[in-house]
Amino acid sequence: MQLEGASQVLVIGAGPAGSAAATTLARAGVDVCMVDRARFPRDKTCGDAVSAGAMRLLDAMGVAADVLARPHASVVHASAVFPGGERIGRDYLQPGYIVGRSELDDALRRGAERAGATVLEGVAVRRVLRDPETDFVVGARGDRFRWRAGVTIAADGPFSVALPALGCERPRGRHVGVAATAYLRGVTFPAGPATADHYIESELPLGYGWIFPAVEGLSNVGVYQRRDAYGQRSGGLRAAFEAFLDRHPERFCNAERVGRVRNWSLPLAAPPHAISAPGLLLAGDAACLVDPLSGEGIWQAIFSGVEAAKTAAGAIAEGNLSPRLRKRYERAIKTRIARPSFGKRAVQHCLQGLVKSGLYRLRPLRGSVRRIYAGGFLEMTKRS
Ligand SMILES: Cc1cc2nc3c(=O)[nH]c(=O)nc-3n(C[C@H](O)[C@H](O)[C@H](O)COP(=O)(O)OP(=O)(O)OC[C@H]3O[C@@H](n4cnc5c(N)ncnc54)[C@H](O)[C@@H]3O)c2cc1C
Repeated sequence: MQLEGASQVLVIGAGPAGSAAATTLARAGVDVCMVDRARFPRDKTCGDAVSAGAMRLLDAMGVAADVLARPHASVVHASAVFPGGERIGRDYLQPGYIVGRSELDDALRRGAERAGATVLEGVAVRRVLRDPETDFVVGARGDRFRWRAGVTIAADGPFSVALPALGCERPRGRHVGVAATAYLRGVTFPAGPATADHYIESELPLGYGWIFPAVEGLSNVGVYQRRDAYGQRSGGLRAAFEAFLDRHPERFCNAERVGRVRNWSLPLAAPPHAISAPGLLLAGDAACLVDPLSGEGIWQAIFSGVEAAKTAAGAIAEGNLSPRLRKRYERAIKTRIARPSFGKRAVQHCLQGLVKSGLYRLRPLRGSVRRIYAGGFLEMTKRS
């Protein structure tokens, strides 16, 4: 059956970016339709870590209470763990959370519906629609779906249908990360059950291994690397994950895996391509906004979803998505996400150098790492 319709704004993808956009628009009184190829609740390969900053954005959108009513763990302490087991830790004044993505994204989608957005599940978009005369994006279509809209927000993840419309290739090399993750029961937590551990190791250049606090007994464990560094290693990502478990019997000797190892791409900031076009805004992973150092993208997805929604609402009020509005959106993303990512890439290279050379053992250098880490300078998503 053909599904056809029109709305002021169409949002493609109901992950954190899409739901944040749809909720913000619906609350502003804009007629918005959000479509997703999945049916909810659906899972998403992720570390499940929701920073304090992300939770503040969710609170402002009125969905934090629903998220925290679902199974979750609090994170009150984080450690960078160096070879030999040395820990550099920091306490969070405001906790972060571990929330399974089927729960988080379901709460967000429900929030969008509650706010008044139309949500269509099980609808895959194949491509955006263009007006042949103006070349403006005027909606999107799928095999049995055709929708027209004044503004289209592509929030459909790393393999966005917006990329061919922009004439862009999928990001590659240093612009993407790869990560593999699985749930384990019975992991040992030497620094306390509410501690998130990040293992900085020469075996995982330009990346790290993580062990996150357990939710209902299951800990999210994974490995992350920038694609260009991962390309230099032999064996697959799953082998890197298994090797990480093998290197840490002190954590995993009593643990059993529940479910399979899953991997997925992370499009890293700063975006190597445009994030808007006439009639079109990209948000979240579709816009290539993941923190290259930490691999976090949920805060970036929500932040960009909200900013894209404000821009789209402005376009509906003014009658079109003007170059001025698009520039405003691009500036917001550049200031809060793209520019800080350059510093983070530099820190990532420094950490790799320190671990590879063993220099992290030198007291003055260790002191600097401790100050940077404990001061939280690298964690904009937890402060904003
Ligand atoms: C292994 C791994 C671990 C991670 N760990 C963390 C972490 O701990 N903390 C953190 O902050 N970030 C983490 N990230 C990053 C984070 O998962 C993403 O940045 C975040 O999900 C981006 O949200 P989004 O809404 O942009 O995209 P997504 O969450 O990917 O949502 C996109 C939605 O679009 C839908 N869709 C896709 N294509 C179409 C289509 N053609 N038509 C219709 N619908 C479509 C999908 O079904 C999906 O629901 C991790 C990523 C990976 C891979």
